[in-house]
Amino acid sequence: MTETADVVIIGSGIVGSSVAYHLAQAGCTNVLVIEREAHQGKGSTGKSMGGVRAQFSTPVNIQMSKYSIDFFAKFDDVVGHPADYRAHGYLFCATNENHLAYLKANRECQNALGVTNVEWVSAEDIVKMVPQLRTDDVLGGTFCPTDGFVDPHSVMMGFMLNARERGVRLWLDTQVTGIEVEPHPGEPVNTGSAGAPPALRSEAASEFDAAPIPTNAGGAPALPVLEACRISGVMTTRGLVSTRVVVNAAGAWAAEVARMAGAELPVEPLRRQLVPTEPFDRLPKRFPMVIDMSTGFHFRREGKGILLAWNDPEETPGFKTEFDPTFIEKILTRAASRVPVLSEAEVNPRRAWAGLYEMTPDHHAIIGPAPNVEGLYFVNGFSGHGVMHSPASGRITADLILQGRSELIDAQQLSVERFTEGRLLEETAIL
Ligand SMILES: Cc1cc2nc3c(=O)[nH]c(=O)nc-3n(C[C@H](O)[C@H](O)[C@H](O)COP(=O)(O)OP(=O)(O)OC[C@H]3O[C@@H](n4cnc5c(N)ncnc54)[C@H](O)[C@@H]3O)c2cc1C
Repeated sequence: MTETADVVIIGSGIVGSSVAYHLAQAGCTNVLVIEREAHQGKGSTGKSMGGVRAQFSTPVNIQMSKYSIDFFAKFDDVVGHPADYRAHGYLFCATNENHLAYLKANRECQNALGVTNVEWVSAEDIVKMVPQLRTDDVLGGTFCPTDGFVDPHSVMMGFMLNARERGVRLWLDTQVTGIEVEPHPGEPVNTGSAGAPPALRSEAASEFDAAPIPTNAGGAPALPVLEACRISGVMTTRGLVSTRVVVNAAGAWAAEVARMAGAELPVEPLRRQLVPTEPFDRLPKRFPMVIDMSTGFHFRREGKGILLAWNDPEETPGFKTEFDPTFIEKILTRAASRVPVLSEAEVNPRRAWAGLYEMTPDHHAIIGPAPNVEGLYFVNGFSGHGVMHSPASGRITADLILQGRSELIDAQQLSVERFTEGRLLEETAIL
């Protein structure tokens, strides 16, 4: 007998789990989540640094963070499972006038959108927070005390456990191998697939010095026109599931899943690597995530050690999930330059790891219906922010499926059509 569901969600990472939770909360419980791995969290969610912050540069990212951080603060009570939200703050350290101007503009935007607790800090304030920092070239910065960290695995499990308590089904160890569509008796539509997406990354030494990514505004070639079609089911390694609505929550693999339905999605995998130190007591027990804007190097405490992060501008797109041991010297050089005591920290390369960011050309998520396939929804391309934006993205996706609109944000901004219509959003506060 063919299985049926009102909604099928492909991928059970933090994003798919949040969509399942928000659908179930709204009363839509005939939902099936399909995950190819034997356990949840084996994609990017299990590799994340767990950082959450409202300190972004674009209104839509700030709005999504505001909703999400408020949600994390009440997660344990509302969802009934722990998120391990720690409001230790994010501290951005500026080393040139451009950085200061950038932080100032961001702070004004954050303030206008209701994030009113981002503090302007001097180099002296910064030293008080983290005395071990080298601050001879630091001009000041910003600190937001409600930024901080969550445990991504706990958040994902909390969302999914709650959804399952309400009747949502989860199939593990089951791969989606195809998406079935049928002709739709409607108008032909644009495919949204014209033109190569703009370059994914800039060559700047620090993301904060990056020039805005060029848009294809005005230069977009005419879109090919396809007959409209609609979802009729998904093919899996357990057989066919009949459904009218499919949510693509396949993380770094989302473009491949979109292609199964004949849809284009400009999402590319990009390796990110993290290096934990062995127990290290030369830094405070509690301090914020610190971002050195001169290099993009950032770090926070993780248990007894320190978790070091830096996005190598030489990294190239691809499904590379092996940790590259040569990365250790690169990151330790940047670490010791900003925090000289870190030159004494011990690092075991076998405890370091790599995972995949799901990058879009403008570093913003793609959320909303696919233009040419009725019933297919994207919730993809978080470009390094999928954990922190999981509450908002689940809520927005559920709203769009059930009501066709969301009161949380103007979701049209995040539609995939923005790439062909020249409406790119540029986020430069990427870590
Ligand atoms: C090193 C690193 C550090 C990061 N740090 C942060 C951070 O500090 N803060 C933050 O907000 N974000 C961070 N991120 C990004 C964040 O982890 C991701 O954006 C987020 O986890 C994406 O969640 P997801 O559910 O969309 O994807 P995933 O967790 O990758 O889940 C997708 C799931 O889809 C499944 N799947 C794919 N194809 C199929 C198929 N055909 N059939 C069935 N199942 C399928 C996969 O198995 C996978 O489980 C970091 C990422 C990395 C790699």
